[in-house]
Amino acid sequence: MSLLKILLTNYCVYDCSYCINRVSSNTERARFTPGEVVQLTLDFYRRNYIEGLFLSSGVLKSPDYTMEQIVEIARLLREEHRFAGYIHLKTVPGASAGLVERAGQYADRLSCNIELPTPADLAALAPEKQVDQIDRTMQTIRNEHERARSERGMGLPFAPAGQTTQMIIGATVTDDARILATADRLYRRFHLRRVIYSAYSPIPDASSLLPSKTPPLIREHRLTQADWLLRFYGFTVDEIAPAERSMLDLDVDPKLAWALRHRELFPVDVNRASRELLLRVPGLGRRTVERILRMRRHVAVTSSVLARLRIPIRRMRPFLLTADRVSAGRDALDRLDLRALLTPPEQLELFTARTSAIHGEL
Ligand code: SF4
Repeated sequence: MSLLKILLTNYCVYDCSYCINRVSSNTERARFTPGEVVQLTLDFYRRNYIEGLFLSSGVLKSPDYTMEQIVEIARLLREEHRFAGYIHLKTVPGASAGLVERAGQYADRLSCNIELPTPADLAALAPEKQVDQIDRTMQTIRNEHERARSERGMGLPFAPAGQTTQMIIGATVTDDARILATADRLYRRFHLRRVIYSAYSPIPDASSLLPSKTPPLIREHRLTQADWLLRFYGFTVDEIAPAERSMLDLDVDPKLAWALRHRELFPVDVNRASRELLLRVPGLGRRTVERILRMRRHVAVTSSVLARLRIPIRRMRPFLLTADRVSAGRDALDRLDLRALLTPPEQLELFTARTSAIHGEL
């Protein structure tokens, strides 16, 4: 969806070390009035440049003052101009629940940024932000979203597209296991739609607490893949990033990395295995697993059937047993160089540039 992604202002009274807009930064400042944001949005929307607005802001004076401005923009758009496009509003942690509730009545989606993965990271780099404030805002959004759903249109609507959050990675030494544990907590407790992992990007005049380089962008991608495994593939954080390997393998995707560590569970019989086990086969995505489950009620699944489903059979051959017995078998699984064989060099090259594409098939 093409959105006008805009800051109401880059003034901010907070001093988050990783942010160019922090109060101690000497960056140039600018501020829109609510009316200007409304006009800009309407102009772009009427010309079909955008499908909606994604509005965020630095913190002006206080969380409540900032949130009032954000809500007012959404109110003007919806009530005064009958704007029917998509609206995503950032909420400011610490803003009163009443303002968050009003924001959700106008917005399709709300987000409240967790910013950093641990309370210690926040204390070090974003001292004005506190986990309990962020949690309270996320809890308000969850409660209101569930209330609106249970009333099924009888009461006021509330952010029907749910809530998301963003986590900066690589600004501290916090490992991937801890990052995923935080994401898992947020999904369970606040029913988030998504956690967005953003690699830290160095800024001018940065604090000495911050790294001088951006983390490899592939790390952002691996965390996103691991996040999908948590939400849709039945994996736990401990399985994806066990204590003895608390950083994700950058060379292979996290499902393949798990399968290589658990070769004793393979090959899996494609005609007999449960959905849960098929979902753990590298290269088999959710949609493909559902197709296989439907198909195998009627026919025996062979390698040619899988080829017709456009399944990357070469990659999963060691892990899958088909009706025509096409499996590379135990010998392949026991090969010391299996990992290298399944890691084409182009796999890394694909992600040397930032990508926001999320692959549903892992
Ligand atoms: S509150 Fe947001 S805009 Fe302000 S310094 Fe922190 S990250 Fe930057």
